[in-house]
Amino acid sequence: MKLLNIIVLSLTVFFCLEVSAQTEYPGKNFYVAVKNGTRTLTGVPGKDYKNNFAEYKIDAKFDSQTHILEGEETILYHYNSGAPTTTMVVNLYRNIYKKGVQRLRQCAVEDITDEGMEILDVQQILKTGKNSDVFTSISGTKLFITLNGRMKEGETVSIYIKWRNKIAANTHHRGGKYRENSWFIPYWYPQIAVYDDIYGWDRINHSGNEEFLFEFANYDVNLTIADNLCVWATGELQNRDQIFNKNIITLIDKASRTNAKIDIITPQNRSAVLKQSQNTWHFKADSVPDFVFACSNEVNWTMSSLQVAPKKPRTKTSVVYFDGRFKGVLDMVNKTLDYLSNQRPNVPYPYSHMTIFQGSGGMEFPMMVNEDFDNNYDDDFFTTSHEVTHSYFPFMTGMYQNRYAFMDEGLTMFVPQIFQNNNFEHRDIITSAVRNMLYSQGSDDNVPVMTPSYSQTDLWVYTINSYYKPQLAYTFLEDIVGEEVMSKILKEFTLNWIGKHPHPYDFFNFCEHVSSLNLKEFFYSWFFITGVPDLAVIQVKDNVITIENKGSIMLPIYLKINYKDGTTEIIERNALCWAGGNNVVNMSVKKDIEFIQIGNERIPDADLSNNNWRADK
Ligand SMILES: [Zn+2]
Repeated sequence: MKLLNIIVLSLTVFFCLEVSAQTEYPGKNFYVAVKNGTRTLTGVPGKDYKNNFAEYKIDAKFDSQTHILEGEETILYHYNSGAPTTTMVVNLYRNIYKKGVQRLRQCAVEDITDEGMEILDVQQILKTGKNSDVFTSISGTKLFITLNGRMKEGETVSIYIKWRNKIAANTHHRGGKYRENSWFIPYWYPQIAVYDDIYGWDRINHSGNEEFLFEFANYDVNLTIADNLCVWATGELQNRDQIFNKNIITLIDKASRTNAKIDIITPQNRSAVLKQSQNTWHFKADSVPDFVFACSNEVNWTMSSLQVAPKKPRTKTSVVYFDGRFKGVLDMVNKTLDYLSNQRPNVPYPYSHMTIFQGSGGMEFPMMVNEDFDNNYDDDFFTTSHEVTHSYFPFMTGMYQNRYAFMDEGLTMFVPQIFQNNNFEHRDIITSAVRNMLYSQGSDDNVPVMTPSYSQTDLWVYTINSYYKPQLAYTFLEDIVGEEVMSKILKEFTLNWIGKHPHPYDFFNFCEHVSSLNLKEFFYSWFFITGVPDLAVIQVKDNVITIENKGSIMLPIYLKINYKDGTTEIIERNALCWAGGNNVVNMSVKKDIEFIQIGNERIPDADLSNNNWRADK
């Protein structure tokens, strides 16, 4: 998701916390999984790690006049790993719009309904082929199903669900209605929750603030939509010959073979795109964590394609937009996919297409992005490249973004930051992150980054902890391990966790394993305590400079020294100079010092009053 623009304030409140040498991260859930052989202490999946998987067959109909989206689906749930259970948990994320459901995001009053996601029927399809009624209960955004008998590891359970939902038209909560008849509709079907080796069933209620956790699945979706609405979705359209007029198919094929931008739908041909006004759109997508769609009869569609890696089919890229200037976003998408596939994380973009819809905010979905248009190059480049990077984190690697938003947002901020800086006209993304991080540092409302995201109800604290602080932690981690090792970590961690659910400790452990360094103290100072970024020059005596880490966060040292002979020197140390619980570093220089300044605009420091030292006249 796109971060909020945060007003920069400087804070001078600070306090100290003792950091001692760490041998193990806190908590027990992860270590039980290590003991069970599903996780390891080197950050790769354990030999007994198995992911559960689902297959959806969904038939749905959306009426854009009444806003009713209704359908039926069969979920084949492959319970590859887990304890015997009679419970199945299904996400009903759209219950955020249900009367009485607890939420942290405001919804328009007109969008709140008594029913929310109305569950009309749930049946278990037994191995005999017969249907069996099951007991169900709904709590918040979760549907709990009591199965007919225990579900055991290795079994496949089949569930039928019939449902109905009035789609919110006045609230733009990661989607919604745009203009007269344009819709971006996320989280629109009952979706199997994640059951995994660390937490069992994911029972975290969605309150609007935190993000989501998805199980990997294959989707076979039929969407029936009238009013000449054209549909864009996760997956590949299976029946385009039945839907599009021939000239549109010719244009799509042309765009699928060229890097050039081809206009598929324009104001001139918009009324002659579809063969009939009502269509059933058949999409299929394999091994994706979610399925989203957008539909409209009033947008433009421009498409191109690119070769992200040799021997792979060309990736189709599209922009679907109201404002003609949005077309430039297509170049940003193509540049980003090329960077991600060939630089960092240097893993080919995994999907057949990436389609950006001009809607609101900035929100990622598998193969789709919903974003606004700022008409500011740096803002639009940031939003586009950020949301496209989410294809890797959390979609390729199924990160626990509802519990640890910093996992996917931190990496999504860090991974493309050099690329973004190279493309920005005016912005330095690291300096911005420093300014934004300082907003919460030292505040009584601050909590450690590792605090579960659903407990971080202060939006500023949540944003800083999920985006800027991990981004800077990884920036300083790269100072420690070097560019080459950091690139190796990003690539190999991604490859190791495709289609699985990595925990933060998997990432921390993987960094240590690949770099052969003890980084626990570093991670502890950035992720497990609040701390305050604050380095100070506390003494200069006989050409020995004493620097103190007053705030417990392990920061790099950047020291600019002006000598009395008129020369200057820059001395740098990476953040591991504070290892071993060390909060004082001494540095000797050979010449007499006139003036010292510690820090710069790319290193956070909450108290600048102790950053300078000047020799007595
Ligand atoms: Zn994001």
